Amino acid sequence: MTAQIIDGKALADELRQSFKARVEALAAKGHRPGLVVILVGADPASEVYVRNKVNGCLAIGMHSEKITYEASVDQATVLNKIAELNADPNIHGILVQLPLPKHFDEEKVLEAIAADKDVDGFHAENVGALAQGNPRFIPCTPYGVMKMFEKGGVDLTGQEAVVIGRSNIVGKPMALLLINAGATVTVCNSRTKDLKFHTRRADILVAAVGKPKFVTADMVKPGAVVIDVGINRLPDGKLCGDVDFAGCLEVAGQITPVPGGVGPMTITMLLANTIEAAERKAGL
Ligand code: NAP
Repeated sequence: MTAQIIDGKALADELRQSFKARVEALAAKGHRPGLVVILVGADPASEVYVRNKVNGCLAIGMHSEKITYEASVDQATVLNKIAELNADPNIHGILVQLPLPKHFDEEKVLEAIAADKDVDGFHAENVGALAQGNPRFIPCTPYGVMKMFEKGGVDLTGQEAVVIGRSNIVGKPMALLLINAGATVTVCNSRTKDLKFHTRRADILVAAVGKPKFVTADMVKPGAVVIDVGINRLPDGKLCGDVDFAGCLEVAGQITPVPGGVGPMTITMLLANTIEAAERKAGL
């Protein structure tokens, strides 16, 4: 059996096209959606992510700007800038690129962003709303995965779902979304006793581990939907997911590739959240 590939790149392109009309409708009413991305330090990977986010906005007619600080900047300076942006009516979304340098209190910085501009969905208020099943902003990566399930015609109700990874950015919000969708959810971590026992039972398997080709074909239930969130850089410079794609392709029912899977969906859902923020502000 060869799995069907869920093409994240194609879905991302389709969604981004559909966003243009919403952006123009908002702009016509004087509410062009605006996103500010704050970058502290010069981590090359973060710089690429930030550039892609800003360009993704500009390509569909949104306003976007990047604010960069030296890694040595003090936290108060960044907090003051966030306060200024919170009060700026032309800015609907504020995002602080993670990770921050070690002298920052990451939680304090994320909590400083106004909850109604927290398009990353990391503010405690938004995390709480998601946990209660009434999400306001859904963290972009798991939100993208949910859109991929939708595109793949995957009905999550009653399915055994296993998430490998429990980070605040991916694993935990992914698990909450699956719970809200009616799946039976198991969340695994590095201490899980018998990982394969869990993954072999999964109708839906989401890998968010950060280890190249970690999920192998023998860990996958035949016909399962396998979602690869991982983005790992191999020594030869190529990108690789957390799933051994070639092996799992022969066992899974549906699978996402890397690159071209979850990655392009993440920025797409950031655009979606920012447009939604602007629509709420405009009373639409
Ligand atoms: P993270 O914060 O490092 O979390 C990794 C999780 O995997 C942790 O919960 C860890 O468990 C668990 N884990 C590690 N080794 C394990 C093992 N042997 N068995 C079971 N669980 C294990 O990473 P993250 O931020 O969630 O990101 C995960 C991956 O997704 C990375 O490759 C990252 O680059 C990628 N990512 C992609 C996107 C995208 O747009 N596609 C967005 C964000 C992240 P413990 O909690 O016990 O340590």
